[in-house]
Amino acid sequence: MKALLINPSIYDFAAYSFWSSPLGLLYIGSILRKNGAELTLVDCMRVVETKRKADGRAPFVKEKVLKPEALKGVRRHYRRYGISRETLSGELSCIDRPDLVLITSIMTYWYPGTKEAVEAAREVFPGSRIVVGGIYPSLCDEQARQQLRMADLIVKHNEIETFYRFVDDALSTTLKFRPSIYELDALPYPCYDLYDDIPFVPLLTSFGCIYRCTYCATPYMHPAIVRRSPFSVLEEIKHWHGHGVKRFVIYDDNFLHEKDRYAKPLLRGIAELPFRIDIFNPNAVNAALIDEELAELFCSSGFRELRIGLETTDPETQRSTGGKVNTRVFEKALAILRDAGFDMETVSVYILAGLPFQKWETVKGAIDFLFALGVRPYLAEYTPIPHTEMFEKYCRFARYPITQDALYQNNALLSFAWEGFTEKDLRYLKQYVREKRSPG
Ligand code: SF4
Repeated sequence: MKALLINPSIYDFAAYSFWSSPLGLLYIGSILRKNGAELTLVDCMRVVETKRKADGRAPFVKEKVLKPEALKGVRRHYRRYGISRETLSGELSCIDRPDLVLITSIMTYWYPGTKEAVEAAREVFPGSRIVVGGIYPSLCDEQARQQLRMADLIVKHNEIETFYRFVDDALSTTLKFRPSIYELDALPYPCYDLYDDIPFVPLLTSFGCIYRCTYCATPYMHPAIVRRSPFSVLEEIKHWHGHGVKRFVIYDDNFLHEKDRYAKPLLRGIAELPFRIDIFNPNAVNAALIDEELAELFCSSGFRELRIGLETTDPETQRSTGGKVNTRVFEKALAILRDAGFDMETVSVYILAGLPFQKWETVKGAIDFLFALGVRPYLAEYTPIPHTEMFEKYCRFARYPITQDALYQNNALLSFAWEGFTEKDLRYLKQYVREKRSPG
């Protein structure tokens, strides 16, 4: 069996590789490899290697492209991040015909890149079976079936059995190794070895979250919590370190949940390894769960920066969106980190901007609060995500038909702009953060 994995290019107004990686696709590839498949990978999301930072982040290659009609109102350049359709077709033409082509998708409004990859694969390999998975079909099932109809199968994240059955039927075989994606300790390591160089390796350590934040799709995607054992994660770190990898990225929405059983033994184990690694956590940790021991472990295990989710300092919004943290608890967590010797300049804190009926002044208040504490605010523009409580409750107030076409879910549209938070206000806030970061 020959399988081709494609991570498509994306189309957006801004994108940067904050340790992004097609982890799910690589896991599926490694499962197929355990079943005897020969794998090829085309990762369209190339980065400019000469501009890669010491921490592993890098800009994607990019090119300006025409905006689709839905996004005409955004006064910014629209770009393709990653390789062009022509380059992709050219690369596919050099590959032996695969039996299976597996294509992933990430943000819902990035589907034009996924669609382009499906069309290119269909054109070059008319007889191959094409499967699309990932977040877009998981959150926009009907739209995905319509947009990606050239594919033979479109699967949601929790339909791995459907995928196995499809492969059995399509290739007249019976896959022997068919784990659930929730058996984290049983999954083979994702096939990063298909890359020439591995600048970092993401570590998937759990699915699900104990909180139910109203703007977040994690509770819908993974209603139950499953954890990977610290032993399994440590073994994977040793494995990739043996391949020369020094940077590891924790992909975990819930890293500190049951910290005495998971995060602490894992970080203790990392601190005791006979080699040093660098750790990053783009998904952020919950400030409410940081204690003295953890703060010391963040230092000793190799966290080069720590990302924390605060989202807002407005008590009513904190409460109504899920209540995972409040400002007093957050301040206490920072004090604990400071006492443990964690460099405050390497602490980044996410603040949400553009929530339905949010006032711009509350975002500015949060920015000022964080600068006063000596940490870096990181403005996260609100993205309306289907199947979240906030989306369902407020979609009728959006300025664009966000339920009809995922393109309108692009956060650059600021779909919930209103007189209390305009596009001008958002531009001001972004500029304000930039100036406070680098005064003068
Ligand atoms: S804590 Fe984070 S992952 Fe969990 S529901 Fe809230 S935003 Fe989502």
